[in-house]
Amino acid sequence: PYDVLVVGGGPAGASAAIYAARKGIRTGIVAERFGGQVLDTVGIENFISVKYTEGAKLAASLEEHVKEYGIDVMKSQRAKRLEKRDFIEVELENGAVLKSKTVILSTGARWRNVGVPGEEEFKNKGVAYCPHCDGPLFAGKHVAVIGGGNSGIEAAIDLAGIASHVTVLEFMPELKADAVLQDRLYSLPNVTVLKNVQTKEITGTDKVNGISYIERDTGTVQHIELDGVFVQIGLVPNTDWLGDTVERNRIGEIVVNSHGATNVPGVFAAGDCTNSPYKQIIISMGSGANAALGAFDYLIRN
Ligand code: FAD
Repeated sequence: PYDVLVVGGGPAGASAAIYAARKGIRTGIVAERFGGQVLDTVGIENFISVKYTEGAKLAASLEEHVKEYGIDVMKSQRAKRLEKRDFIEVELENGAVLKSKTVILSTGARWRNVGVPGEEEFKNKGVAYCPHCDGPLFAGKHVAVIGGGNSGIEAAIDLAGIASHVTVLEFMPELKADAVLQDRLYSLPNVTVLKNVQTKEITGTDKVNGISYIERDTGTVQHIELDGVFVQIGLVPNTDWLGDTVERNRIGEIVVNSHGATNVPGVFAAGDCTNSPYKQIIISMGSGANAALGAFDYLIRN
């Protein structure tokens, strides 16, 4: 068996595997797509100490760093079941069952798409999902935020400080965000809120140039010209495969304590698949390191 088996090969998993291996213990890592969400990212400007890098390059460096150590790397493999017996067992979709004394779950998350024409086509060309990452690219420009929940309204407030104008589109007749966020939003001079509207299409040529929406009470189609669209309708953790083996919160995030430990002894978790409030590369890497040290501490005590 492994001492530490990491499930997920994004920034959190890579960091956890390196921290574990550096303790001289038997470490494996299983990843469906090594690199994770980083592979879908173009420019990265907030990976501190590196002024600018690109997703493909960072993903390659993560893998290169992992391969510096005697870590068993199992790529293009998907975990489908976790069970605690004498060891913790992780079953892969190909039928193999891996055994380990501790497991670190780092299966990440994915942004929920709006699924309208133009979204896929203009990803990284004006369609964005992360205001902390891509907000500065829209300095002085007009952007839309799709989604009036807490994340959408937080994004709109954040972007209003950078962009010239922010238009919020909410499908329901009312915003769902907390009242304090709504008050803050409505106090800003450069924000327009459209409620009860359905996004129809994100338009553009080589990059985004506008958004079309339907006013749901009248059925009228409207179009606004703008430069960017932030989709903020939810981040879904990749944790369905765990069923109820490990405690998850209402939105499916794995609940961890300050050591990265879950409710199952020996099972730890890190990164975007957990209930950590902010989801970023540097935060995922930190929590991966934290969970690996938590797992090591568990191993020396058990
Ligand atoms: P992920 O990166 O999601 O990695 C999850 C890993 O688990 C992958 O290897 C995946 O294949 C694997 N996996 C999932 N399910 C299974 C399974 N069942 N079995 C085996 N493996 C599985 N953050 C920044 O800090 N700066 C940015 O500029 C930035 N830009 C972004 C741009 C885009 C378009 C996106 C989508 C995200 C961006 N982020 C950015 C967020 C950042 O990418 C994430 O916070 C970070 O990648 C999370 O790392 P993670 O390791 O927790 O999860």
